[in-house]
Amino acid sequence: MRVGKLVKISGSVIIGKGIPDIEIGEVIEVGDEGLIGEVIRVSEDVFTAQVYEPTSGLKVGDKVIATGRRLVAELGPGLLMNILDGIGRPLEILIKKSGPFIRRGIKAYTLPRDKKWHFKPLVKKGEKISGGDIIGVAQETPIVEHKIMVPPYIHGVVKEIYEGDFTVLDPIAYLENGKERPLYLMQEWPVRLPRPFAKDGRLPLMKPLVTGQRVIDIFFPVPKGGAACIPGGFGTGKTVMLHQLAKWSDAKVVVYIGCGERGNEMAEVLTDFPKLVDPRTKRPLMERTVLIANTSNMPVSAREASIYIGITIAEYYRDMGYDVALMADSTSRWAEAIREIAGRLGEMPVERGFPAYLPDRIAEFYERAGRVIALGRPKREGSVTVIGAVSPPGGDFNEPVTVHTLRFTGVFWALDADLAYSRHFPAIHWLKSYSVHADVLIPTMAKDLAESGWKELVDLPRYRERALSILSEAAEIESIARIIGEKALPDDQRLILLTAELIKEGFLRQFAFDEVDAFCPLEKQMLILKIIIDFHEKATKLISNRVPVDKISSLPVISKMMRMKFDPRGIEYVKSVGEEAMKSLKEIAEEYGISM
Ligand code: ADP
Repeated sequence: MRVGKLVKISGSVIIGKGIPDIEIGEVIEVGDEGLIGEVIRVSEDVFTAQVYEPTSGLKVGDKVIATGRRLVAELGPGLLMNILDGIGRPLEILIKKSGPFIRRGIKAYTLPRDKKWHFKPLVKKGEKISGGDIIGVAQETPIVEHKIMVPPYIHGVVKEIYEGDFTVLDPIAYLENGKERPLYLMQEWPVRLPRPFAKDGRLPLMKPLVTGQRVIDIFFPVPKGGAACIPGGFGTGKTVMLHQLAKWSDAKVVVYIGCGERGNEMAEVLTDFPKLVDPRTKRPLMERTVLIANTSNMPVSAREASIYIGITIAEYYRDMGYDVALMADSTSRWAEAIREIAGRLGEMPVERGFPAYLPDRIAEFYERAGRVIALGRPKREGSVTVIGAVSPPGGDFNEPVTVHTLRFTGVFWALDADLAYSRHFPAIHWLKSYSVHADVLIPTMAKDLAESGWKELVDLPRYRERALSILSEAAEIESIARIIGEKALPDDQRLILLTAELIKEGFLRQFAFDEVDAFCPLEKQMLILKIIIDFHEKATKLISNRVPVDKISSLPVISKMMRMKFDPRGIEYVKSVGEEAMKSLKEIAEEYGISM
């Protein structure tokens, strides 16, 4: 056993000595309670480590054991439905062992050791297999089939393989390659290393992650395998949005990391999530979810561990050929932890106290998003979409965490304090947000829908462009209107304001808690926008033929257009409102003798 001694303790950072061959990244156990830590710096006989449990009570001279292991994630059936702490221990077990105030130094495995899973082999004795190959399946939850894969970099011939009920540590097969090697339902992976995929297997990002949130799907879509950043000050709706995405996006598996946000919010996640129902399968949402929660009694360093464990779990399900969505709330807390540790290490701060390597860390995390061809056979594609909330102090988007996150994510959902204040939710600002993927995703969505019978929606890219330009024109007109008053504006400009209002109220605004509107199917989203823009174009024609704008703005169908999204009759009702809108304009045209 390699044992050394503690020489200094500074918060969650410790310095030890006496283990000459200790390595960076090695896991250590500190003190009598064996607190888990990770070596982050080595110089000659002295090593520095961050400890993932509270260090109070430790003293100079206490023992430090080097485990020879890296920080790994346990991967296998039993991850879903689980709520883990920052270092991958199930909260349920921690609470069982120590009550609600979790003691330090409790050892708990991520995956249950006693639970049995039914394993069905998919390869036969004598078959040659290698890293990533799927050798069988186990039904992890009623909605997710867990593919059991050969761990990366291993190959050989199947000597034995069994069907039956096994725990994660029972051998389910033996592999022959010079020597015999058992395979299990579980495997381990060092969390700081991205899991490998097929050679040249990175795929272009072309499929949207459909979220049912209009401002996202149609204005600023995120592709499966993409990365999005959602920054916003306190109370602007980050958490509600991440919950919405966890609930509604068409990902097979969701990994949700609560990265040390305010304690009560985490408590909300812990009580809310287990009650949520997956709207598509009508099954508990947890059946496709892994929740990682940094409890408030964990030191800040554990936030870092939780980020890496979360992304590793996400990659593992990606490797099965699934689309995975990972949400982290909030990555600012993780960055603050990096800052604090750097401070204790005496690193030179460069920007608002953050160390020079902050951008590298952020990049490393977001670069693990992607859509890939998985390693091994049968050939399959999977994706990890990463959505990171950022809480910039004072809502200032020019601070380092927001700025660097934007460099590595192609989608920016800017939450706006004024919108949130006026209770326009989601408070994603239409003029400040962007998605670099819109040019690819929007035409693809339109084409797919047109092929599935919604021919009239094929022009979606044009409708979207028009809507965005109306909103930006409206912003300019509003600033003039504030000076001269709306009534003094020319009618065409007043129509722009009216349509902008229709877009904001009838399309963009979407209440997370409304039974009908919490999720809006893609075709309904597009139809609502089409109706509003068609209306605008026809109305523009009337106005250019001298119809007064009041004639249009007083139409009873306007308020119906604002509220058509809420109607439980769904898309049929939306269609009928669209028809009524056209009819109303036609009547005006007839009255004024204008041909439409
Ligand atoms: P943050 O995480 O940014 O501090 P929250 O997500 O907790 O903010 O949102 C604050 C409040 O704003 C919520 O409690 C809720 O009342 C309201 N809210 C946010 N988003 C929505 C939404 N999409 N629909 C309805 N209400 C919302």
